[in-house]
Amino acid sequence: MADPFSVLDRKKVLSRLRSDHYDLLVVGGGITGAGIALDAASRGLTVALVEKSDFAFGTSSRSTKLIHGGLRYLKQLEFGLVKEVGSERAVVHRLAPHLVVPEKMLLPLSEGKSLGYMLTSVGLMIYDWLAGVRKDDRRKMLTRLQTLRREPLLRKQGIKGGAIYAEYRTDDARLTLAVIKTAAHHGAVLLNYVRVTDFINQNGQVTGGVVVDELSGEQFAIKATAIVNATGPWVDEVRSFDNANRGKRLHLTKGVHIVVPRERLPVNQAIYFDAPDGRMIFAIPRGRTTYIGTTDTSYTGNRDEVFASRADVEYLLTAVTKTLQCSLSLHDVESSWAGLRPLIYEEGKTASALSRKDEIIESSTGLISIAGGKLTGYRKMAERVVDLVIRKFFVARKLSDCFTDKIKLAGNEFASFREVQVYRAALFKRITPFGFDSFTAHYLVENYGQQADYIVNLFCREPDHEYNPSLALLKAELLFSVQHEIIANLEDFFVRRTGLAYFDIHRVQSFKNEIASSLADMLAWSDEKRDTELRRLDGFLSRLTVFNE
Ligand code: FAD
Repeated sequence: MADPFSVLDRKKVLSRLRSDHYDLLVVGGGITGAGIALDAASRGLTVALVEKSDFAFGTSSRSTKLIHGGLRYLKQLEFGLVKEVGSERAVVHRLAPHLVVPEKMLLPLSEGKSLGYMLTSVGLMIYDWLAGVRKDDRRKMLTRLQTLRREPLLRKQGIKGGAIYAEYRTDDARLTLAVIKTAAHHGAVLLNYVRVTDFINQNGQVTGGVVVDELSGEQFAIKATAIVNATGPWVDEVRSFDNANRGKRLHLTKGVHIVVPRERLPVNQAIYFDAPDGRMIFAIPRGRTTYIGTTDTSYTGNRDEVFASRADVEYLLTAVTKTLQCSLSLHDVESSWAGLRPLIYEEGKTASALSRKDEIIESSTGLISIAGGKLTGYRKMAERVVDLVIRKFFVARKLSDCFTDKIKLAGNEFASFREVQVYRAALFKRITPFGFDSFTAHYLVENYGQQADYIVNLFCREPDHEYNPSLALLKAELLFSVQHEIIANLEDFFVRRTGLAYFDIHRVQSFKNEIASSLADMLAWSDEKRDTELRRLDGFLSRLTVFNE
């Protein structure tokens, strides 16, 4: 079982943040900040991390949810990026084999689109070679017939052949949370709903953050020797507190995904295909749904309110119906999400052409900012940042080198992926008598790893588990989230702890009232507060399902 990381201990954590001095303060609880906190804490630094909203509120819960080498970066000749993130895939899979799961990707090749057959074959060979992919997992080129057999939904016209290559899929918010919880096990002090509003500056150097607890309104300071700004799309805003917005700046692009029922788009496996405008789009099966993404358009709106527009959804529906035999319309879209890529601005380049490489920006006040990069490469980014922090501030201190490639993430006590499969089969056997299907076993193990046993134990203690197992399971997950995953509201639970708002929105609609009442009991909310939280959830869900111009 994981150590408690409970919202009920929030006051204690706040008091530690207020009173202690830290070697490092990390601003931002997305995958980048989480990775930095884990790396620094495991090397022996004292670390605080604060997140203004929920952990993974930003881009880290709104990606394509792939741990991938980025085939299209090969097209942009970004060999270094492909090598680094490509090699990291197997490492992150090893650190959390329940959560980072192998997924074969089909790349259909069509007349007049994509690269030619030979060029794709060579490209994928280089991709595998750069990433050090195991022999049995390397790309396989397919004939036209083999491609169409693999994916009968493909529109036949123009298909020349295809390729199958290895990637991994994950849940980005759960991966971020797993890194956050692991950092807590290594002594880092991490808290959500604490916003940095300014920096303390002494003799021209930043020596702390002025913060506000978003739940109580209390303001205080967190003192630290080094400060890292890992706020993704908000990096420039946080740099501005330090008057450090000189030189490089961000260019934000929006990426949208839509979710449709699996039976409306029953793809056999993940597919990566060309949209009519030449961009590449994924269609990825997940549980009872298939999700499709992404768009890539410049964005200058509110970073806290990013949702799909009607034009985004129509673009994706057109792209998918041109490639696959299906008749999807707006009514089929059950849910959606939209995220912002924090890319580094380059004069004259279009959104899609901007580099996805990470970039470290140092200010004369000592503030270190990091932006760009990939979910997949979080560990190497963290290593680079912490190396820099140590070189700048703690060179005289005896600290270990980075060893996060050996630190298993919370929920993983598996020796191999095979063990995950055996564990899942046993869990499935355990929950079958209550009417659960194999999707639920997959969901529980991918989300929680070995913590799933604890959740099923909680489920068995729920009084109504025999009469309404689906609700009882949700209540068990809720209790686990309160006790061990520091949720503060319904959105944290339904969006970032369970992913149900994206992948099973009907279940959210069915049980939101009961779950709101249970959470109100656990957190001692008044009826008024419960109703306000429910209205807030409803407002949020409607933004995932109703698409305005
Ligand atoms: P974020 O996740 O945005 O985290 C920054 C955090 O800082 C936020 O939670 C925010 O609330 C917090 N914050 C902001 N201001 C403050 C403040 N003042 N005080 C405290 N906290 C603050 N990568 C992959 O590897 N695979 C993919 O499949 C993939 N798909 C993608 C698809 C899309 C559409 C997009 C947009 C990106 C994708 N990426 C993918 C890239 C990847 O998701 C991002 O690189 C990564 O999530 C960025 O994480 P981050 O921690 O830097 O930023």
